[in-house]
Amino acid sequence: MRSVSIHCTSCGKAHKLDEAIFRCDLCNEPLEIEEISNGRINKGNILTQTIWERYEDFYPFLDKNNRFTLGEGFTPLIEMKDLAYSIGISGLYMKNETQNPTWSFKDRGTAVGIMDAKRLGYKRIGTVSTGNMATSVAAYGAAAGMETFVFVSKDISEEKINPIAMYNPHLIKVEGNYGELYFESLKIGKENNIYFINSDVPMRVEGSKTIAYEICEQLNFQMPDYVIVPTSAGGNIRGIEKGFREFKSCGLIDNVPKIICAQSLGCSPIYNAYYNNSDAITRVEKPHTIAHAIENPYPPSGNQVLRLLKNNGGIATAVTDEEILKAQALMAKEGILGQPASSVPLAAIIKLKEEGFLKGNEKVVCIVTGSGLKYTASFAMHQLYSAECELNELSDYIKENY
Ligand SMILES: [Zn+2]
Repeated sequence: MRSVSIHCTSCGKAHKLDEAIFRCDLCNEPLEIEEISNGRINKGNILTQTIWERYEDFYPFLDKNNRFTLGEGFTPLIEMKDLAYSIGISGLYMKNETQNPTWSFKDRGTAVGIMDAKRLGYKRIGTVSTGNMATSVAAYGAAAGMETFVFVSKDISEEKINPIAMYNPHLIKVEGNYGELYFESLKIGKENNIYFINSDVPMRVEGSKTIAYEICEQLNFQMPDYVIVPTSAGGNIRGIEKGFREFKSCGLIDNVPKIICAQSLGCSPIYNAYYNNSDAITRVEKPHTIAHAIENPYPPSGNQVLRLLKNNGGIATAVTDEEILKAQALMAKEGILGQPASSVPLAAIIKLKEEGFLKGNEKVVCIVTGSGLKYTASFAMHQLYSAECELNELSDYIKENY
């Protein structure tokens, strides 16, 4: 283990990693661990290796004798040739994060968060979420034997709360302004010795770096032109960009792909600020979108994502619910069932191609963040068909109809 520095993404103030620290105590912007510029991949058998062993050099602050994993990561990168052809771009790949232990990318950051909480001696962890992150933290907390607190909003649906409850955390429906709960939880954590693994905390960002590392390996270090990330709080897009940046610093890749922050028009605070050329996001007053997993009206890393796009040369874009549902159906046709939020990148590609931003010679990677089975309510918004037939008539029925 070696100590690393952690600094504010806005004012640059250095902080210490010897306590649970999540935001800058000077300007309240998110913190980021120093860029690792000297590392290599531990090539080995991925059937026996964990992602934390393979990319160990990029996590010098974690205690390798105290690793914790449920087998997150090593998710497939699928090339979608037919879809690329029909959209008119030269390459399209989907990083299928639905294949993580709790069916979303969140497990990567949860694992790092738990390892960090253990390093600091915490016995209690927590999170604020109504979806993917709540399920992930509940599962990992249970498996790690830690007392786990999950704060959800009071109007959470049965479909969403039941999978969280199955892992048996302290599950608390909180009445009041859900948007403020993120900031409130950091205070509650301090007062009650709970390590909050919230959406964009530094360790969650560190976990998401592995998505970029894997993409580099899966594409034989030939970088795509764009990586499109459905963006809510901003932790995942930050981690993915940092991962590419670190591999470039270590000489493993020649260039960092451009990052596209994709949001739903029904809740697009980062896109709105980007579009208006502003340095700071403003709260979306009445968010409404089918892409619930990215429906964050005031993303805690929103300003940092704007800074990231500026440095990286990437852009922000947003799509309608109708475009999202169309993309969800297109992905299902290719065998990948993503939740609506996970269909936002494909919808964005189609839109950016139609608008002429994409010329046609680009290679693009979409991050499919979470499983379609997490939000079955979206199925009712599609035209779904089935037929009925008696068993003894089935053969004739098929001959006559197909
Ligand atoms: Zn600061």
